[in-house]
Amino acid sequence: MSASAAILGLLDLLFPPKCSLCGLIGADPLCPACAGSFSLIQAPYCDRCGYPRVGDLACTRCADHESPLILTRAYGVYEGALRDAVHALKYRSRARLGPPLGRLMAACALTDPGLASESWHAVVPVPIHPARCRQRGFNQSDLLAQPVALALGTPLESGWLARCRRTAPQARLPWERRLTNLRGAFRAPDPGSVRGQRVLLIDDVLTTRSTVSEAARTLLMAGAGAVGALALAMDV
Ligand SMILES: [Zn+2]
Ligand SMILES: [Zn+2]
Repeated sequence: MSASAAILGLLDLLFPPKCSLCGLIGADPLCPACAGSFSLIQAPYCDRCGYPRVGDLACTRCADHESPLILTRAYGVYEGALRDAVHALKYRSRARLGPPLGRLMAACALTDPGLASESWHAVVPVPIHPARCRQRGFNQSDLLAQPVALALGTPLESGWLARCRRTAPQARLPWERRLTNLRGAFRAPDPGSVRGQRVLLIDDVLTTRSTVSEAARTLLMAGAGAVGALALAMDV
């Protein structure tokens, strides 16, 4: 046995690989029981905003709100084990949760009729501020976007959007401040690449939609042809 294999074996003994959510030994980073307990967003849902709806009734949310997005989808409901997974990824820096959670989103992207039938030119993760990225060590949306881009066979363009202003975390703000907190928070550094392109934005959680809407507006102002969004989870 090589020295590095011996060290890895010792580390496994001291810190056994386990599920990030329930602690089950040997199921790193996510055990099948935890993954199986996520509540999925199932049809019928509105193509435009992604919210579940009743039968063929028109979506009342879309009638009330102007959205810059042509399509919105989320893999699951932001509650229970999926909420715990998002918190572990973002606030406990469990980067290893990114790839398996991203693969669940990729499966959603491949099987959703609306999303799969669109011809996307690029997959773009919603950026976080560089200072927050340094603190966390990664942008969670970037980790989630990689398996989605791979599954769709679409280029991952992490440089098409940049965060130019550090904003207060949305989760800590009162509802009404969340809507204006993000104004002017993004820029498109390379409008020449964005022009005319159909972009699928990737975000971790959709709550008020203000983050993803502001990101979409920035891309459209830079000349993008159309923007859709896929998130890991959303409030319903
Ligand atoms: Zn588990
Ligand atoms: Zn709708």
